[in-house]
Amino acid sequence: MPILRNTKKEAVIKDITVIGGGVVGASTALHLASLGYQITIVDQNNSNIAKNSEHRTGSTASLGVLMGNIFTRHKGRSWELRKRSMEIWPELIKSLSTEELPIIVNTPLVKIASSKEEMIKMENLIKQKKYLGIDFLPDNYQSLPIWIKNKYGGLISYNDGQINSLKLIDSLFLKLKSLNVNIITSKVKYIKRINDNTRIWSVILEDGKAINSHIVIICAAAESERLLQQLNYKLPLTKILGQAIKLKFKNSQVNFSGWPAIVNIKGINLIPEQPDSLLIGATLENELSPDKKYLHQMLETIREKAEWMQNYLIKEKWYGHRAKPINEPAPILKSIEKGLIINTAHYRNGVLLSPACAEWVSLEINKFHQ
Ligand SMILES: Cc1cc2nc3c(=O)[nH]c(=O)nc-3n(C[C@H](O)[C@H](O)[C@H](O)COP(=O)(O)OP(=O)(O)OC[C@H]3O[C@@H](n4cnc5c(N)ncnc54)[C@H](O)[C@@H]3O)c2cc1C
Repeated sequence: MPILRNTKKEAVIKDITVIGGGVVGASTALHLASLGYQITIVDQNNSNIAKNSEHRTGSTASLGVLMGNIFTRHKGRSWELRKRSMEIWPELIKSLSTEELPIIVNTPLVKIASSKEEMIKMENLIKQKKYLGIDFLPDNYQSLPIWIKNKYGGLISYNDGQINSLKLIDSLFLKLKSLNVNIITSKVKYIKRINDNTRIWSVILEDGKAINSHIVIICAAAESERLLQQLNYKLPLTKILGQAIKLKFKNSQVNFSGWPAIVNIKGINLIPEQPDSLLIGATLENELSPDKKYLHQMLETIREKAEWMQNYLIKEKWYGHRAKPINEPAPILKSIEKGLIINTAHYRNGVLLSPACAEWVSLEINKFHQ
């Protein structure tokens, strides 16, 4: 297991229930199980569900971009979580990857500037964060048979990357099984306090069964709001929809060999999956259902920079919702009362931040819940 800051002392509390088996809940469950806690994880979906359907969970919709180092800030909570996650990822991947299910972080990431002003910001970032492997975009990409128009230049981040989030979820669940984590497929109806003195919590499932434990960790994305409301807590969240698409090019001239793992332009990620196919995403939509207008706009934005963006088949298209906090920055990491912790509302970077947030939960348990 990765070497993490928390070395568990003799714990009084042994049993923990994690609600939500997306990347955030599964990473949290894994980290706590590796520290010796008895974990139950509950998700309304089997981890295999939604991979091939158009409507997915946040984690199964994700493009898995780990854009940790090229963050403009260099202090504050957001930066600390990014930095810590980027430290944990290499070891976490090593511990998850098996011969049957190899898993890697593909690097590097290239960000193209769309204006002079953006390039000036990039120059400052390069000055500040060169030590993390961020530099000016090397010239050799310009000589590739196909590339993006980059009049203003760009940057390369050698340590930021991309992970296949479907494989990641599978690996996390395989590891949870190997650590004897109790995995339950059911919807959580509500949470209740059993006894105000002992602070035992009861998680009530759809079939009426109850799971009792000393600690409950809520990682249920947008559903966290409803679960907390029943305990008289307010956590206003909004759902921001994201669409992504996979294109297969029919023109044999279009070949992504030699491309970096990710090209980011105007906030859109282009991820070459095969020499002739590209993942593109994601849109930001304030709607509950996907609107083709946003997908069209996203593809047009890329087409302006890449005249080769034509003559393709849409191989796959999907969407998911991100849970965004209304009055506070994402993610929400809080102990709201003894034994009740929230690690949710990850909005845009849940995959990236999941390892550091899992570690935060274990430190919080040590601080307040033993
Ligand atoms: C199209 C798209 C692309 C994205 N790309 C990236 C990216 O490149 N990099 C990145 O870091 N992030 C990306 N994100 C954001 C990222 O996916 C989310 O931040 C992350 O998945 C949040 O993980 P989560 O576990 O909190 O939520 P989810 O994956 O949504 O998991 C919540 C889980 O809780 C379960 N659940 C909910 N209610 C209940 C209940 N009552 N009972 C039982 N179970 C329940 C759900 O079934 C679900 O599995 C993207 C998001 C989208 C939509």
